[in-house]
Amino acid sequence: MTLVSSPAESGTALISNEPAIPALVPILLAMRELMSSSEPWTIAPADLRAYKWLGATIFPRRTIYIDPLQDWEDWAETLLHELIHALRGPLPEEEYDAEEAIVEAATRRIMRSMLAELRAAIGAQR
Ligand SMILES: [Zn+2]
Repeated sequence: MTLVSSPAESGTALISNEPAIPALVPILLAMRELMSSSEPWTIAPADLRAYKWLGATIFPRRTIYIDPLQDWEDWAETLLHELIHALRGPLPEEEYDAEEAIVEAATRRIMRSMLAELRAAIGAQR
């Protein structure tokens, strides 16, 4: 799940005022893997405000729920975060906190590295 109150989901802590487009490639690769499996995953909009979540990965339903009312940056980051949860698989509840930290770090790493690659590519052409 992605908590609304987590600073990494606020859109300010990660890549402030930068478009989330650099995360597009890993997002697409993750989506392709999940949607082309023998038991494909579904990505669906959901109002998760009652839980104070921006997104949720529900393994028994093989569904990722995303709050569609987020701005573009938060939406892309939330989707990437939930895709990583889905790809990593379910865990016992006592491991949730550790897993959340791992997924957060992976999400940040991907968003940052893709942004750096985009900047390098733009710079190389000038
Ligand atoms: Zn999470």
